[in-house]
Amino acid sequence: MKTLIKKYSYFLKLSLLVLLLTFTNEGQGQLPDDEKNYVSNTDVGMGKYLTKSLKKTRKVVLTFDDGPHEKITEQVLDILYRYNAPATFFVLGKKITPETTPLLERIVRDGHTLASHGYGHDEANKQTEITFKNELYNSFRQIDDIYGNNSRASYYRFPYGAYGFSPDYHHLNALREISHKLYQQNCINFVFWDIDSQDWSPLLSADQNAQNIISNIDGGTYYNPKKTTNFYGKREWIIEKYPIKNPIGGGIVLMHDIRSKTVEILELFLDYAARNNIEIIPLDDMKEANEYHRFCK
Ligand SMILES: [Zn+2]
Repeated sequence: MKTLIKKYSYFLKLSLLVLLLTFTNEGQGQLPDDEKNYVSNTDVGMGKYLTKSLKKTRKVVLTFDDGPHEKITEQVLDILYRYNAPATFFVLGKKITPETTPLLERIVRDGHTLASHGYGHDEANKQTEITFKNELYNSFRQIDDIYGNNSRASYYRFPYGAYGFSPDYHHLNALREISHKLYQQNCINFVFWDIDSQDWSPLLSADQNAQNIISNIDGGTYYNPKKTTNFYGKREWIIEKYPIKNPIGGGIVLMHDIRSKTVEILELFLDYAARNNIEIIPLDDMKEANEYHRFCK
């Protein structure tokens, strides 16, 4: 009996701890903590940074990664304009050229948010500290050139959402340090996503990709591309279909403005959103960013 009580109290303590941790994360901003020294292999994963404030709100934030793309970004901007919908573009420094700069200027002029996705899309965990910091620094300098002296909320998204596993430095400490160097304060938010459209996969139709966004808001089928080993021992991609019965009902949507299919997906989704009272809001409006709102200059 005694051991049973002991066992129980252990589980009780454990569940209390989990509960406490859950509440501590509630309402947390997506800004590196001002003081904390983040530790590799411990402070990892995007799970704790899901956008709690948008859950069940039927509000979504649209984000586009890996651009700008001379043709696609322009088409995406045209559709957003037609539906009067705001979006955020996480651009790659290496794609910012004299040819694409007018597109970045239009992103800002149209009232969207221009944000950094780093320079060359390398996975941060595989980069040395000096390379990671240099690329981060330079990519924000490029974006600052577009914004000019206007103060603004500042955002960064890790390629693949991957960070925190480099043995000799932690990316959130580095992000804060670069922010201080650029703006004399800790003001760069990091942003992940809650709803993956899987638009990168050529296996899915535009309809299925749009459905992936919709099913996370209103329930329905989700189409997940997955690598698996077939009967002959060969690796191949399959589409895993599963129903979402308890959708999160709002959040940050991940798309990529580098393929023409994404233009179709966007239009399909915005059409559905307009007919079904789904609100598209700017990234600046989500509580996780504006609770700790600091403008970078
Ligand atoms: Zn990316």
